[in-house]
Amino acid sequence: MAILLSFDIDGTLEVGDPPGGITMEMVRRAYEAGYLIASCSDRALSSQKAMWARYNIPAVFTASKHQLPNMRAAITADAYYHIGDRDTDEQIAAENGFGFWWNHEGVSEPWLTLQTPHGVQTPGGEDVSG
Ligand SMILES: [Mg+2]
Repeated sequence: MAILLSFDIDGTLEVGDPPGGITMEMVRRAYEAGYLIASCSDRALSSQKAMWARYNIPAVFTASKHQLPNMRAAITADAYYHIGDRDTDEQIAAENGFGFWWNHEGVSEPWLTLQTPHGVQTPGGEDVSG
């Protein structure tokens, strides 16, 4: 079962400019729990890749916001979620079938509850069993 978490950076992650409340330790915890980690940000892809390399977290993709549809097609997962701080984040998530959390919601690591005894909870609320 795979759940993909796509993180915006600026205003969302602690390493963003401005910093957001989601720490790299939270992201690492998700990675170590088996989540697929990615970033989708207005930052240059080279900057996104450098960030993941610096924290030694292998991202399944780094993308600009308009590339999110392609990324969804390229990466197989049971459920897709995006976390960000702007209306555009919420919008691209909705347009591409990603669940969405605001940056301030992400600080409670809501993704950790998506793995249920029955499988994975999708953005639509149903469980996908596996
Ligand atoms: Mg942002």
